[in-house]
Amino acid sequence: KRTHTRLPEWLKTPIPTNDNYKRIKNDLRGLGLHTVCEEARCPNISDCWGGSNKSAATATIMLMGDTCTRGCRFCSVKTSNTPPPLDPHEPENTAEALKRWGLGYVVLTSVDRDDLVDGGSRHFAETIMKIKQKAPTILVEALTGDFAGDLEQVGVVARSGLDVYAHNVETTEELTPTVRDRRAKFRQSLDVLRAAKAAKPELITKTSIMLGLGETEEGLWDALRELRKADVDVVTFGQYMRPTKRHMKVEEYVRPETFEMWRQRALGLGFLYCASGPLVRSSYKAGEAFIENVLK
Ligand code: SF4
Ligand code: SF4
Repeated sequence: KRTHTRLPEWLKTPIPTNDNYKRIKNDLRGLGLHTVCEEARCPNISDCWGGSNKSAATATIMLMGDTCTRGCRFCSVKTSNTPPPLDPHEPENTAEALKRWGLGYVVLTSVDRDDLVDGGSRHFAETIMKIKQKAPTILVEALTGDFAGDLEQVGVVARSGLDVYAHNVETTEELTPTVRDRRAKFRQSLDVLRAAKAAKPELITKTSIMLGLGETEEGLWDALRELRKADVDVVTFGQYMRPTKRHMKVEEYVRPETFEMWRQRALGLGFLYCASGPLVRSSYKAGEAFIENVLK
């Protein structure tokens, strides 16, 4: 019996060797930052960290610890109802480290913290404010959870001085109950994105959808239309990759040309830009995309 499926050709990636990437990796030693890029061994690291333009270099940083109060069926982050308390020095330390790093664009993300009264919104906001004080040229994207539908907390983050507010719907409405934690709802996620825009209309809002989970074409069209109705500016598509055998299986390895087709469809619906490809993650070359499409 076969125990694993061979990956199609387009998902095999070369080992990153870019010089710029190596330099940044060395710089990172001693800064005490935990990047998702390194910890998840993201295949895009040389594209994101080592682009030709340093002011567009992008990295993703995880805040609020490594233990999530939720358990989505696609995600390998460890779960507990009682994660350790927040590190009160994290906002300051993160800002200081980012200032020294000299990155162009940072994505701040976190585990979900349903155990905290405010879901961690003030911790997020404080980190963003400190980064903007210490290193005002860094563009900041926050990729947050849904704050259990508490839209006031979305406002706290949205008004903290960031440039892009991201929250991932992850999949179609139909598949949401089987893919995401039972506390996550497709409509609730739309409300989060709508609330971020309402709190600060000049913010760019962004979401991400994984393909290959068994979603239907009609389901995807519906999701995109609903996202546009909620005034979401940017969407990204990437292939779902199963982290371990305990996680949902991959229904399909979607072909690169199908990703390109969905990118065109998204642009046709009026999204400002769309990154779409088998290896794309929501933060994929986000700095470059922002500079090309928003600051131009
Ligand atoms: Fe993973 Fe986020 Fe789901 Fe937590 S909420 S299990 S970090 S995808
Ligand atoms: Fe890091 Fe995201 Fe780029 Fe991967 S796609 S290297 S996680 S910024």
